[in-house]
Amino acid sequence: MTFEIAIDRCPYCGGSLTTQYINDKRRLVCAKCGKTIYLNPVPVVASVVIKDNSILLAKRKNLPNIGKWNLPAGFLELYEQPEEGALRELKEETGLLGEDPKLCCAITQNSKRYGSVVVLGFIIPKTYGKIVPGDDASDARFFKLNDIPKIPFSSHRKIIKHAIKDLKLDIKLPFNS
Ligand SMILES: [Zn+2]
Repeated sequence: MTFEIAIDRCPYCGGSLTTQYINDKRRLVCAKCGKTIYLNPVPVVASVVIKDNSILLAKRKNLPNIGKWNLPAGFLELYEQPEEGALRELKEETGLLGEDPKLCCAITQNSKRYGSVVVLGFIIPKTYGKIVPGDDASDARFFKLNDIPKIPFSSHRKIIKHAIKDLKLDIKLPFNS
């Protein structure tokens, strides 16, 4: 586990941190105020829009994996409901307005920056408007599910697999895991 990626000073008092084992778990403990600093995964929301056996993907404008295609996705904002986050990311990255998001599955994925993130995949059955790529996406369009480009995130691939199962689509995806 890599703690150095997440934090190097105590968020309560600014003191330096030590590593201790508490109940067999490696924890960060402040040398000054004694508080234990818990590191937790960060939630990400990802939107699945499938129409006519095609899925909406967005092309990444930023690191990591610039230029690769993935589900419209991003970090949940503070105090935001996950469903709202999924619709917001869909709108920001593809220009489409969505309705009735349904949680499909939740997948933990390792992250260089956060240790791990939990990606909440939402199926969005109804969308409106015209595709206009924006925010973190340089492009957005539908791909036939049996011919989608290589998606760099295993969590997104797993979500797509879950989604086509949930939607009872008889499609062979171009990846196994
Ligand atoms: Zn402290």
